[in-house]
Amino acid sequence: MALTGPAPSPLAFVPFVSVQNMMALVHTLGINRFLRELAAYIEADFRRWPEFDKTPRIAAHSAEGVIELMPTSDHTLYGFKYVNGHPKNMKEGLQTVTAFGMLADVASGYPVLLSEMTVLTALRTAAMSAVAATHLAPAGARVMAVIGNGAQSEFQAIAFRELLGITTLRLFDIDPAASEKCRRNLAGLGFDITICESSEKAVEGADIITTVTADKQCATILSDNMVGSGVHINAVGGDCPGKTELHRDILTRAAIFVEYPPQTRIEGEIQQLAEDHPVTELWQVMTGDAAGRRSQSEITLFDSVGFAIEDFSALRYVRDNIAGTGLYERLDMLADPDDPRDLFGMVQRATGIS
Ligand code: NAD
Repeated sequence: MALTGPAPSPLAFVPFVSVQNMMALVHTLGINRFLRELAAYIEADFRRWPEFDKTPRIAAHSAEGVIELMPTSDHTLYGFKYVNGHPKNMKEGLQTVTAFGMLADVASGYPVLLSEMTVLTALRTAAMSAVAATHLAPAGARVMAVIGNGAQSEFQAIAFRELLGITTLRLFDIDPAASEKCRRNLAGLGFDITICESSEKAVEGADIITTVTADKQCATILSDNMVGSGVHINAVGGDCPGKTELHRDILTRAAIFVEYPPQTRIEGEIQQLAEDHPVTELWQVMTGDAAGRRSQSEITLFDSVGFAIEDFSALRYVRDNIAGTGLYERLDMLADPDDPRDLFGMVQRATGIS
């Protein structure tokens, strides 16, 4: 497993991983292994954080949702993801979040991978949450509440079992059909699952609370009285200006950990706080430059919004694992004239192909 390394030489074609092939890759590797190894890629990239170009993602907001571009580079590879967030989509039979992304070779500028990232985003978001929790959750955590049982939820549950040993799930969703779907999908995977009638019930006895709801408003999925000492909160659903999940009073009691502060201050739960409210950057916890959880009674909060480096890690992981599998198509998206300056001549000679 290559965690870092030079980009391969540009190819005459661009490997494209479709949704179908991404699903096949998950089955070939096994989802447990995929999540565990992806988590290792994310942690490896976070540990070399200063090497990356970083910018808050470029967001185009509309009344219904947001479309975002998420670029980064480590100066060997360049990556970006296109992603949307449209909470109303689900009621119309569409995904709330869809995505695709690309890796390119910095030396030539040529793309080296194009991939679907709807499935991959769910995997990387879950892997990121679980990596954060390995540094922040209370020791011996076994019980997780999952509030919001939509597209992301099963991935979160499996990543937390794989990396932390979570065995008991307490589910809540305003739509009971979502919780039933989640329970059905996770049946037989060794979880002890309870569907709860409210989020208050779901958090009872939970060591970790994952909030992963979709609503385009400042919602109160968790209020202050629901969060006891020592709990780790994995807040995933609040990821846009005007779209949060936690009551402000929880934030002022918690030690807050973020991906990239300039982006999280715009998009995360901490948009509710003063701009200078102290937060800790997760990469510094991973390198040992900052403390993670400091006591068993501390409330820790991972204010997840999703950062470009996680997508870069995920694309690298896919690139490293499709070799030899045939789980990609060869996209003809690189013009390759015999003489690089004779692009027109190449077009002119291409008769009889229409
Ligand atoms: P989804 O639409 O498939 O599922 C969302 C679920 O939340 C639905 O089942 C809905 O009924 C439920 N819900 C809505 N309001 C609720 C409430 N008040 N209490 C309980 N449940 C409620 O969406 P998804 O793809 O699972 O994404 C969930 C959220 O995670 C979205 O807001 C999305 O933008 C966000 N997300 C964040 C990241 C990240 O990196 N932080 C990555 C991907 C998705």
